[in-house]
Amino acid sequence: MSDKTFDIQTRLLHHKYKTDPHNGAVSVGVQHASTFHQESLDTFGEYDYARSGNPTRQALEEIFAELENGTASYAFASGMAAISTTFMLLSAGDHLVITDDVYGGTFRMTTEVLTRLGIEHTFVDMTDAENVRQAMKDNTKMIFMETPSNPTMKITPVEEIVALAQKAGCLTVLDNTFMTPVLQRPLDLGVDIVVHSATKFIGGHSDVVAGLAAVKDETLSQRFKFLQNSFGAILGPDDCWLIMRGLKTLHTRMTASQKVAENLALWLNEQPEVQSVYYPGLKDHPGFELNKKQSDGPGAVLSFELADRETVNRFAQAVTIPVFAVSLGAVETILSYPAKMSHAAMPDHERAKRGITDGLLRVSVGLESEDDLKQDFRQAFDRLSLN
Ligand SMILES: *Cc1c(COP(=O)(O)O)cnc(C)c1O
Repeated sequence: MSDKTFDIQTRLLHHKYKTDPHNGAVSVGVQHASTFHQESLDTFGEYDYARSGNPTRQALEEIFAELENGTASYAFASGMAAISTTFMLLSAGDHLVITDDVYGGTFRMTTEVLTRLGIEHTFVDMTDAENVRQAMKDNTKMIFMETPSNPTMKITPVEEIVALAQKAGCLTVLDNTFMTPVLQRPLDLGVDIVVHSATKFIGGHSDVVAGLAAVKDETLSQRFKFLQNSFGAILGPDDCWLIMRGLKTLHTRMTASQKVAENLALWLNEQPEVQSVYYPGLKDHPGFELNKKQSDGPGAVLSFELADRETVNRFAQAVTIPVFAVSLGAVETILSYPAKMSHAAMPDHERAKRGITDGLLRVSVGLESEDDLKQDFRQAFDRLSLN
């Protein structure tokens, strides 16, 4: 059994699955079986069919539940599969309050799928709980948060919103992809369901697409298990193994990347080519104090604004270290262009309202040297003024 008194970096390594009870292996075995032999008509074993349960997936799910301080977690084929399955807790006629700069895929699911299923929504700026209170209706059944938000890194007052939800008897969900349980544990703040794109920091190596959802409440856990099995968007055993491998270094990677992100944000703030920097670790960020209170750090993702689309294009071509790509949370630094990548699913006018301008670039800091990154960015800025 794991010991909750250990720090998270220890708990990432020392848990119920750290060695195999049958052979001592220091890595969880990958079980590919899709079905399991049963003793008789009356005695079914622990597993019957692998959509319903698989030993490798179960190991990941139990390890991850413990990290989020939950009672159960469920592994899905992608972050969107985890989020879409969570939305299946809603029924036609229900209303969802959702943060306005939510991940582009969640925006698309909400506006183009849930709407068609008769589930209404209201987007609100969740930096102020009062906006949430005003948006709530008699049929509001779920509040969906994402903090820090993507890509402008706005901070949501989680406990204030949880209090509103609890009074109204509705569920709260928090997309914790940017922080991971190393930096933020939403269940401890009273949130009902934590969702993740494990494709990002948790996997950490740009080699697996996966999703996770964790809960504390036992009844909710049963509902989730039912939905995971019914919807069927489960994570395969090989990918479960990759996620478990990623978890082992999660604390080390988050801490190292965050440290460089903090210094890079300060440095970017001083470069004349940069119009603004969005990072909750900067003292002048409006969410700085709140983020410090409800999490253990500002994370490793930041955004900054250059003059316009053409400047961004030239900068992205001039840098040599970062990968210019969709995604974040990897060992290599990833530079992305939210307007055409994470938020491509959002119409232009909706993006403009959220400050996702044509000059905005997002950086997810990897494990490279801080000096190398700064030098690379500086030479790219220098080349902007050359024609
Ligand atoms: C990437 C991402 C998702 C979607 O996850 P996938 O694994 O790509 O399906 C959801 N939320 C956030 C914040 C993300 O960055």
